[in-house]
Amino acid sequence: MQLLKDRIRKDGKVKEGNVLKVDSFLNHQMDVKLFREIGKEFKKRFEGEEINKILTIEASGIGIACIAAEVFDVPVVFAKKNQTKNIAGDVYTTKVESFTHGRVYDIIVAKEFLGKGDKVLLIDDFMANGKALEGLAQLVEDSGAELVGAGIVIEKGFQRGGDILRKRTHLESLAIIESMDEKTGEIVFRDDE
Ligand code: 5GP
Repeated sequence: MQLLKDRIRKDGKVKEGNVLKVDSFLNHQMDVKLFREIGKEFKKRFEGEEINKILTIEASGIGIACIAAEVFDVPVVFAKKNQTKNIAGDVYTTKVESFTHGRVYDIIVAKEFLGKGDKVLLIDDFMANGKALEGLAQLVEDSGAELVGAGIVIEKGFQRGGDILRKRTHLESLAIIESMDEKTGEIVFRDDE
């Protein structure tokens, strides 16, 4: 998606540890007009697929998923990050290893909001090693819902997540980063000339 790639080039900041900061339009301040274009692009890429629910994960997936849900005209549910001791009975839960924070946490969705008959599109801001997405896919599977696909705004193609998730479902990433250089700030996208 050219508009997104141009914006990443203009405003993205390459940090140490293979982290891309996009706080000025995606992860802190949010450019809702861009989110709307992202939502429309997801809709185009999943045209013909039957989707009746969007599932994301707190916190930074929520804004994007909400706008996408409006375009798809379906409800959106976000998985909550939680401590094991707080988990009540009526939830699906799985463990996720965080890329940015380097720790393991639980994610939960109430059984009330995910189950048989749901045809689910996963949405998230970033994919690195794919752990967050794998966790969401697991919740969908455990609930008896159907996993239709996953839409990612920025995939870091040099990390493992893309390969893992493409084996499991229909994955669409709107910008795939092939490499990025912390020293020069250069970002190369997968389909660049
Ligand atoms: P994964 O589970 O695929 O390893 O990591 C995905 C999650 O980590 C995303 O939901 C995102 O919040 C965060 N993340 C991973 N890599 C980056 C990055 O380079 N920049 C930012 N801003 N977040 C990242």
